[in-house]
Amino acid sequence: MATAAAGGRRRRVLFFPLPYQGHINPMFQLAGLLHARGFSITVFHVRFNAPDASAHPAYDFVSVPDDGMPADSPDTVQATMDHIVSVNRACEAPFRERLAALLERQRARAEDVACLVADSHLLTLLGVARGLGVPTLALRLGSAACFRCLTAFPMLCDKGYLPVQESSQLDAPVVELPPYRIGDLPASAAAHGQLREVLSRVVTAVTTSSGLILDTFDALEADELAALRRDLAVPVFDVGPLHKLSPAASSSLLRQDRGCLDWLDGQPPASVLYVSFGSLASVSASDLVETAWGIANSGRPFLWVLRPGLVRGAPPSSISLPDGFDAATRGRGVVVSWAPQEEVLAHPAVGGFWTHCGWNSTLEGVCAGVPMLCRPFFADQMGNARYVDHVWRTGVTIDGELQRGKVEAAISTLMGAGEPGAGMRRRALELKNSAAASIGEAGSSSVNVDMLVSLIQSM
Ligand code: UDP
Repeated sequence: MATAAAGGRRRRVLFFPLPYQGHINPMFQLAGLLHARGFSITVFHVRFNAPDASAHPAYDFVSVPDDGMPADSPDTVQATMDHIVSVNRACEAPFRERLAALLERQRARAEDVACLVADSHLLTLLGVARGLGVPTLALRLGSAACFRCLTAFPMLCDKGYLPVQESSQLDAPVVELPPYRIGDLPASAAAHGQLREVLSRVVTAVTTSSGLILDTFDALEADELAALRRDLAVPVFDVGPLHKLSPAASSSLLRQDRGCLDWLDGQPPASVLYVSFGSLASVSASDLVETAWGIANSGRPFLWVLRPGLVRGAPPSSISLPDGFDAATRGRGVVVSWAPQEEVLAHPAVGGFWTHCGWNSTLEGVCAGVPMLCRPFFADQMGNARYVDHVWRTGVTIDGELQRGKVEAAISTLMGAGEPGAGMRRRALELKNSAAASIGEAGSSSVNVDMLVSLIQSM
């Protein structure tokens, strides 16, 4: 096993996550992995969604001012792009100053900085590090398939797939990138130009770094990873599933309600539907009502995460469920504001996962061997849902307008006895086993972690 001490010097790896839950978690998992191999860790972060340093006493933390960043969490493609642009802009000068000071201090110690691992959305900051002589690695949080879409974005525009002109085109296949349909692409009709720019910066962040790190594994995306290795001039390290591989302490930004695990203990095996839409997506008041009645009418036990701010237009702290919902589901369900999701999904009582298909949730669902009900919102979520229901065939997607009847039918397909649910559950278990194999001895991700550690030692 490769470790940092192999060369006789203590090496420090710097991290800079994008400040969202779905980006912070895997970066801390990667940091945990490298720390376990003997590297010292410094995490640079903005003030927005700052990580809890006390949960990681072995790491150094450097706060970088983010003056001018929007204060709210983004819940649309447009708002996310505005955030990304402003993190890069606001942090450029203060990051340069803080990194230069850190390098100066390191020179006085028997330790040196090996590299910066930054989110692939932080092109400006990766450039700052290289300008100060620090090699960089880009951590891309999304599937290999999604990153292929980003590299293909200019082609997709040239061929007229994007920007989407009419909703009637959404079901048309993207011939060059099966199984994507136009509607599965990360697109924004309203802000096409800005999206193209933001995505092209991600690709540049990767191609100008010394390697691309992906939280996926070979058995899940063998063809997509092979295509990336063929097309990219930088090495690709698929080291996922990071949450299974890494001993990282919790990096949850919200307090997780662990009481729901006790409730799950009392439920029959594979009986509970777990419902969560991640940390950013928001729903309309009418979708909340359809979701609630679809869950209630399914007759199944459920654990539902209603995150503060989930419902557009509702006060963040108090989400009201429709009249009669409590009575209709009494004794059959639990609602929490934030759950220990990985543990929930791994619980034997959970038999289905209604997800927005953020990449972390998708991967966590895959690793738990749980079939998924997909209801994607934006960005890469539609493409992830397409892989769940069309490639891995471990779930169903609810398309179009959300209606309680569709929800009830989808839950019954997913969790009911007989086909097609039984086939989805069987394939989900097979994927779970291949995820476990990938991080076992000589598994593809374990081998890639060793290669990544060797690369960092040589930097
Ligand atoms: N998560 C959690 N508790 C919850 C809901 C989500 O800990 O109640 C975690 C989940 O395990 C995942 C992350 O939040 O690691 C969400 O990331 P994802 O990429 O799925 O979605 P995003 O929030 O970025 O849309």
